[in-house]
Amino acid sequence: MIEIKLNNTLTGKKEVFLPIHKNEVRMYNCGPTVYFFPHIGNMRSYILADILRRTIEYSGSKVKQVINITDVGHLVSDGDEGEDKIEKSAQKEGKTAFDIARFYENAYYQDLKDLNIKSDDTKFPRATEHIKEQIEILKILEEKGFAYKTSDGLYFDTSKFKDYGKLGNINIKEQKEGARIETNIEKRNPSDFALWKYSPSASGGEKRLQEWESPWGVGFPGWHIECSAMSRKYLDQPFDIHTGGIDHIPVHHNNEIAQSECAFGVPLANFWLHNEFITVEGEKMSKSLGNIFTISDLKKRQIHPLAFRLWLLSGHYRSPMNFTWDAVLGAHKTLEKLIFEFDNLSKEDIDKETIEKFESFLGDDLDTPKALALLHNAFNLKKSKKTIQEMDKILGLNFSFLSKKIKENISDEVMELKNERDTARKEKNWQKSDELREEIEKEGYLLEDKNDQSILRKNLSSLI
Ligand code: AMP
Ligand code: ZN
Repeated sequence: MIEIKLNNTLTGKKEVFLPIHKNEVRMYNCGPTVYFFPHIGNMRSYILADILRRTIEYSGSKVKQVINITDVGHLVSDGDEGEDKIEKSAQKEGKTAFDIARFYENAYYQDLKDLNIKSDDTKFPRATEHIKEQIEILKILEEKGFAYKTSDGLYFDTSKFKDYGKLGNINIKEQKEGARIETNIEKRNPSDFALWKYSPSASGGEKRLQEWESPWGVGFPGWHIECSAMSRKYLDQPFDIHTGGIDHIPVHHNNEIAQSECAFGVPLANFWLHNEFITVEGEKMSKSLGNIFTISDLKKRQIHPLAFRLWLLSGHYRSPMNFTWDAVLGAHKTLEKLIFEFDNLSKEDIDKETIEKFESFLGDDLDTPKALALLHNAFNLKKSKKTIQEMDKILGLNFSFLSKKIKENISDEVMELKNERDTARKEKNWQKSDELREEIEKEGYLLEDKNDQSILRKNLSSLI
């Protein structure tokens, strides 16, 4: 059992984490908007959720996890103006909104799998399949006087919620003063946000690809309401932990809080955790800036997705990480070396001292950089396999699996080359031995020489 302290965005403090329900932690992670392939910046959010989940499970509690699938309502402006990301993508690709959403949702599941992110029993509710639940909350907000109508939809009146902006201590006044000229002059306050937006078809215009009937007119839900509705449905309110990237603090998460707390009079979640960005040359990785890389881009360059995981964990989740190809390539080489070394470790019992330190690092606001330094140290000191496996329960680098895989299904052809080379080495024919090594490496294998023996393994890229 380890004590877990987490930096709570809600209070700005590191606090001891105590679950609401004994032995079951309920966690909601803001999920992907499925209009394009997730980029590796997006995946940082889910690696944070995974490390958190594994740490809690390690400490002895079950985790009930929900990641929403945003398949409607997220507009290109990330605010209340502009096209719906899904509709825009559907038009661009000449497909239905449904096909677009399902296609990129599946791409997201593939990335989760590649990154060894636990998700077998994770619930992935889709916004479009919870319209009824969203409308129910909007009705309550309207009845309680928190909502008002404009010509383009139903809006939340943020001036009616005295705690508006409390997450991350957002200064609404400053935001208001600095706000760009509002395109929607019917809003009562610049920070007010759409709960429901009308489709053009509601006023005789074109039908949207996705639209529904509602008490206010045909339309679609605002982006934030799905999270209030689906977290409540599957996790109840309040639940334990809510996570996302830091870009969600000022608007999306404060709006979720406003809706949920005003509708039901209790907090939405007790702990809020936010990951910093992955940047490229110092700028946020984002589709709009055109500086994105995906897990498939890494794979195309022969970089194993778990090398990306290793690289990412070398930074704390609250520090920005600047992506470079050299950095992930370096991580790939390091991971490959560690997997080989893992194979040579002893079968002794867990080294208790190492594991105690490991637990205290993870328990201290998920300090993965320190945990990784300890992992490297454990390898250097040739601690046992079981010690590494214990750490891997949380780090999720999959040492046991990968070290098995690199020895499986070695082709007869390469085995023959290895035998030939072993003979050349015995005969001290170094030139031939070097040539054969080169040939073997070209086939995607690596050799480790041990006295007059050699060990043949696949390289890490060949497991992609
Ligand atoms: P989206 O699919 O746009 O809703 O974003 C999914 C998640 O990725 C959210 O939690 C975002 O805050 C997060 N995110 C977006 N860009 C980055 C980035 N460059 N680095 C880290 N997290 C990001
Ligand atoms: Zn959300």
